[in-house]
Amino acid sequence: GQCAAVCPTGAVTIKNDVPSVWKAIYDDKKRVVAQIAPAVRVALGEEFGISKGENVMPLIVAAMRKIGFDEIYDTSFSADLTVIEETNEFLGKLESGAKLPLFTSCCPAWVSYVEEKHPELMPQVSTCKSPQQMFGSVIKAYAKDKYQDDEKETIVVSVMPCTAKKAEAGRAEFVTEGSKDVDIVLTTKGLADMIYESGIVFKELEPEALDMPFGMYSGAGLIFGVTGGVTEAVIRKVIKDKSHASINNVKFCGARGMEGIKEFDLPLEDGETVLKIAVVSGLGNAEQLIRKMEAGEAFYHFIEVMACPGGCIGGAGQPFGLRNTKRLRAESIYASDKQTQLRHADENPVIPDLYNTLLKDRTHELLHVHYHK
Ligand code: SF4
Repeated sequence: GQCAAVCPTGAVTIKNDVPSVWKAIYDDKKRVVAQIAPAVRVALGEEFGISKGENVMPLIVAAMRKIGFDEIYDTSFSADLTVIEETNEFLGKLESGAKLPLFTSCCPAWVSYVEEKHPELMPQVSTCKSPQQMFGSVIKAYAKDKYQDDEKETIVVSVMPCTAKKAEAGRAEFVTEGSKDVDIVLTTKGLADMIYESGIVFKELEPEALDMPFGMYSGAGLIFGVTGGVTEAVIRKVIKDKSHASINNVKFCGARGMEGIKEFDLPLEDGETVLKIAVVSGLGNAEQLIRKMEAGEAFYHFIEVMACPGGCIGGAGQPFGLRNTKRLRAESIYASDKQTQLRHADENPVIPDLYNTLLKDRTHELLHVHYHK
């Protein structure tokens, strides 16, 4: 059965999905495939006495293998796909003169907010599925192809910093060929509970690597976990000069930092276009910006919105952290990004092949969504 943890404000009941994950793992007829979101790796260690912000991804992988997950992948992979799709959508709109700004769509709490409070803005919200949902639909299609002859059912479990991701995975729009893109969503704290329940001594695990091919990602996908990350990833794709120095310099564009509203201009290399960009975290700040636009006091081409202050590193599914903890988590994500060999989404070597095979004629179906509400 399902256990339930009740929100102290009485506003929401958050489903505890740990029992259903155990059930799937012990079921011989199920192949349990996991995806881990960028923000999880810099927060989970705190639960086990590891210093704040430390990237413990290799230990998470080791723990999840011991627990019994069959394949373990990284949501940063599908974040790379999101960057590619969203940048194409943005440049297409810019070229055709469609109504801008384009709002990002990775944060389900933001998408629900627009549906409820500003339905008139829905056509300007990117049609890209969030990385969680893109991962789910891609992996299900991939597994269907790869494991044609075996009877096992593929179950996608995502480990997310977020409680809103549970509701997102449950939406009717995210069912492909009768199967949910993402079956079960665990929060960071939910995964910590499973590790405790297994008696694993997390700190003493030997580090392990993710599975291939969907354990491959670029730093652009990784920085989705911090406010400004999606924007910076999109800019890395938009700029034509992809030299090391040029990609590094994007960090000075104005997207980084923990402020709730960041606004900056981005001159493109054509010498003519200057993009007006805003990066927002916190729904109150988003509302403030929308009012400013409605009053005609501001215009933007592109707006990133994350509901949680600081972005997903401060999500409601993470161990509780104050401002300083969030700062350490953000710094750790940026440090890990700098250490990846691949810094922009087009460098992810798994993706071109995917576009030529699995995604051929199916990008719309597998990577985009039209919300019905
Ligand atoms: Fe979830 Fe918060 Fe990230 Fe939005 S910003 S996806 S609500 S963790």
